[in-house]
Amino acid sequence: MTKAIREEEYRMATRDFVGWCTTCEDFTRDCTEGDAEAYDCPQCEGNTVMGAENALIAGEITFKNEGHNGRTTGTKKDSETECC
Ligand SMILES: [Zn+2]
Repeated sequence: MTKAIREEEYRMATRDFVGWCTTCEDFTRDCTEGDAEAYDCPQCEGNTVMGAENALIAGEITFKNEGHNGRTTGTKKDSETECC
């Protein structure tokens, strides 16, 4: 099952090497490389933790579409419709 998280959370997880537990559906484990697989989870104690990058590739996590959260730095929104 895919869980939607904020892209910011993902970035922090990859930066801080925090692993994603597919059972807890949360970032639970420190010292977990982005491509880690089947690491132990400190919360549920299963070998269900994968690296953040791996979790994204495997479709365990996805990014929330936060709509207009003003992160487009000054570019015109109309440009979307003009493309192609
Ligand atoms: Zn867990």
